[in-house]
Amino acid sequence: MVSETTQQSNFKRLISYMKPYKLGFIAAIVAMVGYAGIDSLFIYSIKPLIDEGLTNKNPGVLTYAPIFVVGAFCLRGLFNFVSTYCLSWVGSNVVMTMRQSLFDHMMRMPVPYFDSQTTGQLISKITYDTEQVANAASKTLVIIVKEGAFVVGMLALMFYQSWQLSLIFLLIGPIIAVVVRFVSKRFRKISRQIQNAMGNITTSAEQMLNGHKVVLTFGGQAIESERFRKISNKTRRQNMKMVAASAISVPVIQIIASFALATVLFVASFDSMMETLTPGTFTVIITSMIMLLRPLKQLTSVNSQFQKGMAASASIFAVLDEEEETDNGTKELARAKGDLRINDVTFTYQGKETPALENINLSIEPGQTVALVGRSGSGKSTITSLLTRFYPYQDGTITLDGIEVNDFKLANLRSQFATVSQHVTLFDDTIANNIAYACDDSVTREQIEAAAKSAHVLEFAQSMPDGLDTQVGENGVMLSGGQRQRIAIARALLRDAPILILDEATSALDTESERHIQGALEALQANRTSLVIAHRLSTIQNADKIVVLDGGRIIEQGTHEVLLAKDGAYAQLHKMQFGD
Ligand code: ADP
Repeated sequence: MVSETTQQSNFKRLISYMKPYKLGFIAAIVAMVGYAGIDSLFIYSIKPLIDEGLTNKNPGVLTYAPIFVVGAFCLRGLFNFVSTYCLSWVGSNVVMTMRQSLFDHMMRMPVPYFDSQTTGQLISKITYDTEQVANAASKTLVIIVKEGAFVVGMLALMFYQSWQLSLIFLLIGPIIAVVVRFVSKRFRKISRQIQNAMGNITTSAEQMLNGHKVVLTFGGQAIESERFRKISNKTRRQNMKMVAASAISVPVIQIIASFALATVLFVASFDSMMETLTPGTFTVIITSMIMLLRPLKQLTSVNSQFQKGMAASASIFAVLDEEEETDNGTKELARAKGDLRINDVTFTYQGKETPALENINLSIEPGQTVALVGRSGSGKSTITSLLTRFYPYQDGTITLDGIEVNDFKLANLRSQFATVSQHVTLFDDTIANNIAYACDDSVTREQIEAAAKSAHVLEFAQSMPDGLDTQVGENGVMLSGGQRQRIAIARALLRDAPILILDEATSALDTESERHIQGALEALQANRTSLVIAHRLSTIQNADKIVVLDGGRIIEQGTHEVLLAKDGAYAQLHKMQFGD
């Protein structure tokens, strides 16, 4: 449950997002008040029109009336434009700022955070929740200020004409307040549910889009369709609840108000009252009361918008308040030699009971190639994740060139590593820009071409329409697995980091590309420390050290020959793969 105080502090925080756009905000408020003023002036003018113009047949009043009407409407139109435009300007800027801070913040979140969140929920916060906040910012304000000013105008007019009758009308105020309070609680609850449901819709759609081929192959269309229908229907039902709450509350409030209006009419019929009222005064009062029903309706329905916005900002602020990746290390190395030592490290993933790594001891000398082998789930990738500090380890130490990795500045630590993994992430850009991803301007075209050449990227790029400047499409859909991997190798070559992590780097290659690439990879590894996760033992026979993992423990380590001679787990694996 969102408590009143968090709601208040969220509101304050929301206001702080609008502060930079104060001027637009003020202009909008002035224009809205002007708009309401003109409407009130109209109703006020009914009295002279009836009493002077019609009853007393004063020709002056009737002559000016048409000019007044046109002039007033021109001004009203201007006010309307200024207020709508300025508020949308403020609102759209607030959405943009929030989106940007969410985007930037999510990017800086630690890796474990993403293990506990669905991508759909996070995307929906960036796209949907921020829009909801904009609605709160603009729609709510339009109604509160514009209608609020109009209510004040109407009340002033009524009291000015007859305070006795106006008092009667006002007695219903507290009753309406109770209804509004009850309804807003409900709005807030439903809004939160709608947001979650929107997140689920995004998640479900995303799963289908990402796994489209799997769905087709396994004939999962009916299941996916049903899953989506359920989620979608849930959102629809929540929306209907919202509409129902709002559709019931509006007439209820108006019926309560109609009782007050009836009482006023009844009291006005008393003789003593009749004497004090001219036809003009009476018309102005009744018109004002009827006119008050509209803003009353708006003011209660604005609440649903406002609650939606508040629920959305609560969900946004919850993400913004999540702690970013800790980066309080101070040490930096221009270029590490590549001396890696893992001492007695034990690591358990959050929410897991058994450790993924137990008492790992491993040293890698600068320039060495060390291979990690073992069945899947044995902890190979986890070791590499700890080196780059994607996850914090609980026990033991990991040092790079004698400095504990936790003492490094994060960016500096990560700049010492280049990863080539079987999951190559390509950005929707050209091949050249993908190779030079996140490099600064000092990287020359020649360097990119040289990297592309050594990684055998040029070979296939040359046959493409724009060569290295060919667009690869979203996540490189236009390219084969082997081509994607060659781009990843070129990227690592250009990055020229001292330590290389090759995660089953050659798994997606056909024999032809593999032959091409093995040479490039060896050149890449030549003067670097490298850690290779390999499934196929043929590629790692020359490694300086082979480490065999099982169930998070190192069960053997040594060179290919030593391990074969030992006739243990490695020899077993070797027999399985080569059948000898
Ligand atoms: P390998 O790379 O050898 O296949 P991993 O290092 O990926 O093995 O996994 C080691 C163990 O840690 C496995 O039991 C796996 O289920 C678990 N694991 C891996 N990643 C996560 C994660 N993000 N959250 C929780 N458990 C994980």
